[in-house]
Amino acid sequence: MSRKVRADVDLDAIRENFKLAREQTPESKAVAIVKANAYGHGALQVAGVLESEADAFGVSCIEEGLELREGGFHKLPVIMLEGFFDAGELALIDQHNFWPAVHSYYQLEALEQAAMQNHIKVLVKIDTGMHRLGFQPDEVAAVVARLEALECVDEVLLMTHFARADELDPHPTQAQFERFQSAADNLGLAACVSNSAAVMHWPEVNRNWVRPGIMIYGVSPFEETVPEAAPLKRAMTLSTEIIAIRDVEVGESVGYGGAFTCERPTRIGTISMGYGDGYPRQAKNGTPVVVCGKRAAVAGRVSMDMMTIDLTDIPEAKVGDRVELFGTSLPVEEVARWCDTIPYTLMTGLLPRVPRYYSRKK
Ligand SMILES: *Cc1c(COP(=O)(O)O)cnc(C)c1O
Repeated sequence: MSRKVRADVDLDAIRENFKLAREQTPESKAVAIVKANAYGHGALQVAGVLESEADAFGVSCIEEGLELREGGFHKLPVIMLEGFFDAGELALIDQHNFWPAVHSYYQLEALEQAAMQNHIKVLVKIDTGMHRLGFQPDEVAAVVARLEALECVDEVLLMTHFARADELDPHPTQAQFERFQSAADNLGLAACVSNSAAVMHWPEVNRNWVRPGIMIYGVSPFEETVPEAAPLKRAMTLSTEIIAIRDVEVGESVGYGGAFTCERPTRIGTISMGYGDGYPRQAKNGTPVVVCGKRAAVAGRVSMDMMTIDLTDIPEAKVGDRVELFGTSLPVEEVARWCDTIPYTLMTGLLPRVPRYYSRKK
């Protein structure tokens, strides 16, 4: 690679984070959520370290499930978190041991009309307050009965998703969980409820299956510092190199729109990284980066292939030095705040132009 942009992914960290999720929920089976290319980390590489640790993989659609199967991962069931979009997917679901969520009547009806060879498992999604997908709690018993009547359905599990488990106020999560229980009580079915935030912080809601996502990549879903986040190991480090340095006079502005004006004689470093790599253009002046073990700040607007940083206080910095944008030296959570976003978007937003390099000792 001529350009020095790279994302280094520590697969051992991912394995350890997943083990931590398991230790938090020792009674539960655990789905490794690898949707969206494993949050930008590389679905096949992540599946490679988690296949022996997880009880299932979780993806957003059939193409992501097929990528795992075609990549050689045949052992674990794959949960399709949004279910199928079209009845035409059912033959592949049947063939590949995919477990679709069922969140709407059109999916239920498609299953009723399907002729499948095998018995599949399905997860009935209950809308307990997210109001995005799922049946209302009072519809669930009838939906489950219709599914259980089907030859092709082997097991029905129940599932819901929390809207605010990443907030420290317990009330919204408790309220959702109570609605879930009101629908699930008496049905005697296995349940799959917890996302990372719940796995880490709300042990009372963990049920038979848990669905950790972001925590396996070493990132906390919580805005606030929580003790449960301390042992997570950051899996991805995004970095590049300084390609040019110049001294800019007081009063001169840097980059598109003149968005940064020098208030002191300023040593500006240009680095090869931009929104064409997935680094957010929203990064404000002052967004941290790390150079020579020290923090420098974004100075001027992020452009497509390059961005500029203030190196005035790091006189030893020179062309060719590595610059970390986020990762082991600089929490992605902190960078996300400067960009008015969340770590999820920084990781999933990394574009294919950024080569991933994997390390794995075990
Ligand atoms: C993405 C997703 C998860 C994982 O969420 P994290 O916050 O990353 O742990 C769990 N369940 C569903 C339905 C999801 O879509």
